[in-house]
Amino acid sequence: MPTQNVDLEALNQQFADFLRRKKYRNTQERYRVLERIAALDRHFNADELYLEMNQAGERVSRATVYSTLDLLTKCNILVKHRFQGESAHYELSSRMPNHDHLMCMECGRIVEFRDTSIDAIRDRVAADLGFKPMSHSLQIFAVCPNPLTCEFNAGE
Ligand SMILES: [Zn+2]
Ligand SMILES: [Zn+2]
Repeated sequence: MPTQNVDLEALNQQFADFLRRKKYRNTQERYRVLERIAALDRHFNADELYLEMNQAGERVSRATVYSTLDLLTKCNILVKHRFQGESAHYELSSRMPNHDHLMCMECGRIVEFRDTSIDAIRDRVAADLGFKPMSHSLQIFAVCPNPLTCEFNAGE
């Protein structure tokens, strides 16, 4: 599935507008966190991001990484996922709009997919209940098609 090119300048602008509007401090560290995220084309959790940034020589505290992820989620630059049994994962909303996730219940492998018939169900359900649909999040719990390639078995 092709992902969209990330427009870091537009993301920075969106973030700056949000911080100003909500009167949050506009610190350089927060933009460095965003810049690092924009370079990742995948899901990540807060600790992975913190470790990556520190290994790359960025002097950003764990607390700053966590609070920045919170702010980026509040202004819809990031989507936060709570996959079963995992710490919260994040990804850029612009990365792959409206996709959903299938997760292997054995090994935790996550596969991303896009199926527009799910959008149609979302729109119909919301309209039937008199709401305006904005977005949705669907997780399908499954098991790997081949037990031999399931990472759960591979790790035994
Ligand atoms: Zn995803
Ligand atoms: Zn599996």
